[in-house]
Amino acid sequence: MSNPPAGVVEDLQLEGLTKAFGDFVAVDNLDLTIPGGSFFALLGPSGCGKTTTLRMVAGLETPTSGRILLGGADITDEKPYRRQVNTVFQSYALFPHLDIFENVAFGLRRRGIKDVAGPVNAMLELVQLAPMARRKPSQLSGGQQQRVAVARALINQPGVLLLDEPLGALDLKLRRQMQIELKRIQTEVGTTFVHVTHDQEEAMTMADRIVVMNQGRVQQISPPRELYEKPANRFVAGFIGSPPMNFISGTLVSNSGRTEFLEKTGGTNGLTLSIPEAIAKNLKAPREGELVLGLRPEHLHEFRGQTPPGHSVFEANLTRFELIVPETLLHLKTAGHSLLARIPKLEETPREGERVRILTDLTQANFFCPTTGSSLLP
Ligand code: ATP
Repeated sequence: MSNPPAGVVEDLQLEGLTKAFGDFVAVDNLDLTIPGGSFFALLGPSGCGKTTTLRMVAGLETPTSGRILLGGADITDEKPYRRQVNTVFQSYALFPHLDIFENVAFGLRRRGIKDVAGPVNAMLELVQLAPMARRKPSQLSGGQQQRVAVARALINQPGVLLLDEPLGALDLKLRRQMQIELKRIQTEVGTTFVHVTHDQEEAMTMADRIVVMNQGRVQQISPPRELYEKPANRFVAGFIGSPPMNFISGTLVSNSGRTEFLEKTGGTNGLTLSIPEAIAKNLKAPREGELVLGLRPEHLHEFRGQTPPGHSVFEANLTRFELIVPETLLHLKTAGHSLLARIPKLEETPREGERVRILTDLTQANFFCPTTGSSLLP
């Protein structure tokens, strides 16, 4: 088998990229460098500007301002077909009257290349569809058709492959399989993939780096784990993770060398948590003042024994519990907040309405500025 054709691996840079539709700014001053050969995901809620960004890179939308550079060369004003960029859309848009081989060969034939068998067969091997080369698209499953679409887009060796919600039309099981498939294909071919999705799990599974967008603006650019563990702000913290992070508003108080977090409540006594010194001394905030504590549901544990060193314990009312097999979701209420705890295995099932003790490790917590929402961790 010959190797699948690989494109030129070059960095894609977006500089101050902006797109306004009338008064509405869909993409706002986007600065982004996508290293050549990486698998990059654009992630964000519906309407945040992901597709508009992708369409500008593809040349299907004209930026209002800013530049697009591929391998250092300015391609902002280049015609779409002249760019070393190709796109795979959610609708596969295969030619129904052509078989799979001819669908993949199409781009080569259009460029006047006659000897297509070698590269097309290599590409069909890559997407593991060689035995189906003579079938028509209607004789393939949705996942297989999407793999043909990927092969057809890669055959011309683009420097960048743009994928616009390519798995959106597939059912959940097939989507999971295709996520692994797409990642394998990208690793083998080494082409830069820029994948647009609103599905955080999809982005987390596949991408080397993720850019989270909201309302046309970049919120954070990080590898998946960092996005989860050290969100740059409250938006990212709330968007990444399911169920989402718990946020508790409160005040930091410094008392004879100890730093405590006092929950903000409507008057009654709220919970008090002692902040480990190693965390308190590095927070980008004064030792006294308001902040928002962020705790992931899986970092809260229902607890009956002695508090292990370095941990904090607080009490809460259990309002409801919910089985999300194999885990249990505890709905809790403190004096001022509703919280969720995600417990892998309960030793004893507490009753709804009971007061429970919750153990947490604040070295895993996040802290946010109550006004800007920015993370206060170093
Ligand atoms: P989704 O996940 O729903 O596809 P998205 O993040 O890809 O969302 P875009 O399609 O980039 O979002 O759209 C961003 C914003 O720009 C939306 O509010 C959308 O309504 C608006 N928009 C997009 N295209 C146009 C257009 N041609 N004219 C006016 N507004 C537009």
